[in-house]
Amino acid sequence: MQARFRAIWSDIPSELQKALSPYISYDDFPAMLTAGQTESIKQLSGLDDQALALALLPLAAAYSLAPISHFYVGAIARGESGNLYFGANMEFAGVPLQQTVHAEQSAITHAWLRGEKKLAAITVNYSPCGHCRQFMNELNSGTQLAVYLPNRPPLTLADYLPEAFGPRDLADTPLLLDEVNHGYQLATCDELVQAALDAANRSHAPYSQSHAGVALLDEQGKIYTGRYAENAAFNPSLPPLQAALILMNMAGGHCQSIKRAVLVEGENSHLSQWNATSATLTALGCTTVERYTF
Ligand SMILES: [Zn+2]
Repeated sequence: MQARFRAIWSDIPSELQKALSPYISYDDFPAMLTAGQTESIKQLSGLDDQALALALLPLAAAYSLAPISHFYVGAIARGESGNLYFGANMEFAGVPLQQTVHAEQSAITHAWLRGEKKLAAITVNYSPCGHCRQFMNELNSGTQLAVYLPNRPPLTLADYLPEAFGPRDLADTPLLLDEVNHGYQLATCDELVQAALDAANRSHAPYSQSHAGVALLDEQGKIYTGRYAENAAFNPSLPPLQAALILMNMAGGHCQSIKRAVLVEGENSHLSQWNATSATLTALGCTTVERYTF
């Protein structure tokens, strides 16, 4: 079992401990549970979807990286596939607070990067902040997304975000988690550049058309990619680097062990992720940061 779980394992009810053990005992537990695993855990533990997600929150929060606030937030996104995806907040010392990732953004982006097409529910251990409510309103599940919190009745995003402004108030655009492929190409065999290009091709930027992707190579030779997730209200947009760092963190990688990083974006886009990406990577100790354009 990963060291991060040992301190909070006793907070997990014993029936759930038994049901989870076959999956969580391994060091390479991917911070997600497949639909089949989830069904088995529900049967063995007697918990329903909502109760299971609430009970898993301490495990999700164990992925929190909060050197500034020391406030540990965990979230669980449930896909329509039935898969569960963990998420946790991430803070980065040495760069502006705008680079911070919230737990809901982490779980949602984790689901997106693992191929989930639509979310059914999000569960979080504190009430979602305004920023996250707006971020979630970009999803193709809309305001019908179920939102579960400890000791609260089940509600939907519509309850947490009345009089919502969102993508449907603007153009008829793809929504976050809709499958897209923008078709950009780069003439290179470099695996990391192609991984970042693939992420840019799947990125969500319907308002600026400034599609962007990031790929990170760590010291173990593993590659993690992240896609830009733009928001109708602009400020809650999630940069592609943060998306890649979410996947790295949830997959058990270390954000301070990045050997090489690549950003791919448009040469003539309205926006550029370059300055923020290179500054945050420098703060994380990565000195090899490259930019390629289509
Ligand atoms: Zn938030």
